[in-house]
Amino acid sequence: MQVYKVGGAVRDRLLGLPVTDIDRVVVGATTEEMLAQGFRPVGADFPVFLHPKTGEEYALARTERKSGRGYGGFTFYASPDVTLEEDLIRRDLTINAMAEDDQQNLTDPYHGQRDLEARILRHVSPAFAEDPLRVLRVARFAARYAGLGFTVAPETLELMRELSESGELQALTAERSWKEISRALLEDQPQVFIEVLRDCGALKVLMPEVDALFGVPQPEAHHPEIDTGLHTLSVLQQAALHKQPLTVRWACLLHDLGKGLTPQEEWPRHIAHEHTGLKLIKAVNERFKAPKDCQELALLVGQYHTHGHRALELKASTLLELLQSFDVYRRPQRFEEFIAACEMDARGRKGLEQRSYPQADYLRGAATAARGVAVQPLLEQGFKGPALGEALKRERLKVLKAYKDAASA
Ligand code: ATP
Ligand code: MG
Repeated sequence: MQVYKVGGAVRDRLLGLPVTDIDRVVVGATTEEMLAQGFRPVGADFPVFLHPKTGEEYALARTERKSGRGYGGFTFYASPDVTLEEDLIRRDLTINAMAEDDQQNLTDPYHGQRDLEARILRHVSPAFAEDPLRVLRVARFAARYAGLGFTVAPETLELMRELSESGELQALTAERSWKEISRALLEDQPQVFIEVLRDCGALKVLMPEVDALFGVPQPEAHHPEIDTGLHTLSVLQQAALHKQPLTVRWACLLHDLGKGLTPQEEWPRHIAHEHTGLKLIKAVNERFKAPKDCQELALLVGQYHTHGHRALELKASTLLELLQSFDVYRRPQRFEEFIAACEMDARGRKGLEQRSYPQADYLRGAATAARGVAVQPLLEQGFKGPALGEALKRERLKVLKAYKDAASA
């Protein structure tokens, strides 16, 4: 049997990037031979094994044929007579379809190295169209390697467009889609992921709520970029520049969905978009079964981001309501993430990327002040049950009024 490194490990080594996870393909072996050598089988679907010592992945060379809709609709054929070339041709991109042996001898039948040098993401064969997840994968690789100058080959984009129009994207499971979306959002240029999806018509299918923001104007005084879609991309870009976590990036992507529902007569204003957007945010959250912390933050940021921007003008009672809505006493981290998303929203505007955002420290100070109210003295005064809750609120309101006065003095 022969063992080759394949996929990302070969690609990233040739790009001079650090290699973290190594995938290997085994040619000329049977399942029985692998088991006899102590490899542990994983997964019921694929002939994939873990190395007895290193725990790294070894897959038997295989071919795939589409036999129905979605990902369940694949039949795999693994056998000692499947060649390396046959295994490589089922892969998504030419730059992912190279293999190398122990001596770093490259097997590159589909010219991945040429495309690496030309900075092109190109599909390996027409079989690309058999798995719609590849549309998301290509968009994710475009986001990851945009900084190196990679772009999607026109013929690959065309194939992605056909796939998007065919209705196949709807067959993707929430789990497979979310895995790609979340990884893409964590790349250095997540806005490129959205741009590529939009260019091939996949955004309209996957997230029509985000697609609808392009072409919707906002007031130029606050938004020199005017277009709501472009603004959303900039906010995402800021979130990546500032190394924000996935929760914040997800909230940034969805914060303005309500603006896509504004009647044209009201343009460029978007009255109450924070509220109209909530049902759209909920729909996108549920469509991809986003993790609970992502779902929660997206809804809270959608509802309250304009409160964040107006923080210094808010009445003490409104400030208190905001803090209560975030349950800032038990969930301080979530409030920090809200503040971060608001700041990214403020900076994600043309020419305003470097602006200061005094609202952030002001909100932090307010949270600290409110959290500083101690329960013990109130208990000692005999408050309990709902009356205790009311007394706590009164005390917190008092400190917030003092905080506000001190800040404006
Ligand atoms: P990463 O650095 O993100 O791990 P990778 O290229 O190694 O990138 P993996 O998801 O680990 O990506 O997959 C390993 C290889 O398997 C890919 O390089 C590609 O050749 C192939 N592959 C994975 N998923 C698909 C798919 N859906 N369709 C076609 N080929 C795929
Ligand atoms: Mg990999």
